[in-house]
Amino acid sequence: MTHEHTGDTFHFETRAIHAGNTADPATGAVVPPIYQVSTYKQDGVGGLRGGYEYSRSANPTRSALEENLAAIEGGTRALAFASGLAAEDCLLRTLLSPGDHVVIPNDAYGGTFRLFAKVASRWGVEWSVANSSDAEAVRAALTPRTKAIWVETPSNPLLGISDIAALSGVARSAGVRLVVDNTFASPYLQQPLALGADVVVHSTTKYMGGHSDVVGGALIVADAGLGDELAFHQNAMGAIAGPFDAWLVLRGVKTLAVRMDRHCENAARIADMLTNHPRVSHVLYPGLPDHPGHEVAAKQMKAFGGMVSFRVADGEAAAVAVCDRARLFTLGESLGGVESLIEHPGRMTHASAAGSPLEVPSDLVRLSVGIESGDDLLEDLKQALARD
Ligand SMILES: *Cc1c(COP(=O)(O)O)cnc(C)c1O
Repeated sequence: MTHEHTGDTFHFETRAIHAGNTADPATGAVVPPIYQVSTYKQDGVGGLRGGYEYSRSANPTRSALEENLAAIEGGTRALAFASGLAAEDCLLRTLLSPGDHVVIPNDAYGGTFRLFAKVASRWGVEWSVANSSDAEAVRAALTPRTKAIWVETPSNPLLGISDIAALSGVARSAGVRLVVDNTFASPYLQQPLALGADVVVHSTTKYMGGHSDVVGGALIVADAGLGDELAFHQNAMGAIAGPFDAWLVLRGVKTLAVRMDRHCENAARIADMLTNHPRVSHVLYPGLPDHPGHEVAAKQMKAFGGMVSFRVADGEAAAVAVCDRARLFTLGESLGGVESLIEHPGRMTHASAAGSPLEVPSDLVRLSVGIESGDDLLEDLKQALARD
């Protein structure tokens, strides 16, 4: 990687395409090869070529992705994992020990909540829930044992907005770390490290991969010491991204900027249509001026993203029926791919949060708005919302 490709002087779109993407030294191939290999020939005992000895510790395809992710999030170090949850697990085991406490948001990906509530708690990690849209509520939830504040903004599935700079102030004054799950925004729309976050978490399964063909995760940090600790744990625990998965995410990231522009444009049109639809009681989209986080979102995001949630006026059965009637919007979990998806969070992605403080409304429908023709998407939703 020549220095000028990753330098701060290049804009996001340029870094997304070039960082980590050095022409292959052996052949000149312009795309980093998939190094589908476990081990590396040593030039005499301990004589490693380029530092590679075993692919759990490092693999050139994964290194290319990690270099790219660090460059596009404005960090010094990135680590790529087998899934978003593998990245989260590595992070919480690096930051927290038995007896430590973490403040988690009242609106988050159901799997993140499950990881704290059902897994980390068994190892003595304590947690409490706070409304992360309210920095003072987060400050009030801190205890002498708190080691980290965890937020997701925009949040999944309620599209809540947390003020990253304000929470970074709370974290700094308490001497705890601020973790931001940047999956919904992507680094194209939002740069949490520049706003004072200590760690950025991604499910690269979503917008970064962008094509619904890979499961992956990543951690990105500004502090090199924390980066070393995370890298130690990544190797010690082993939930790395495989070479082909790393390659798919690296390829996806090249088009992130143009995809996000279209995701945002289509989502804004759909949010407008839903706002005026008689069968919709409430539209949750940070781009709408009446969204409670609109001003903060406008301040910290380049645009408002491709996720839209809405509540169906006639309740749960009607919400499920809308999901079932959609044709172009595919009924399915996940998000962030080029194709549009629709789902019922209460029964699907967030079923694991039922009965918890993170339970979601039963009349809620979540859309991952894709990059198809916006006209076609609007027509499909209108027919799905039409009464029989
Ligand atoms: C999907 C998702 C995760 C979990 O990532 P996986 O790749 O599914 O393990 C974490 N956070 C958010 C916001 C997500 O949408």
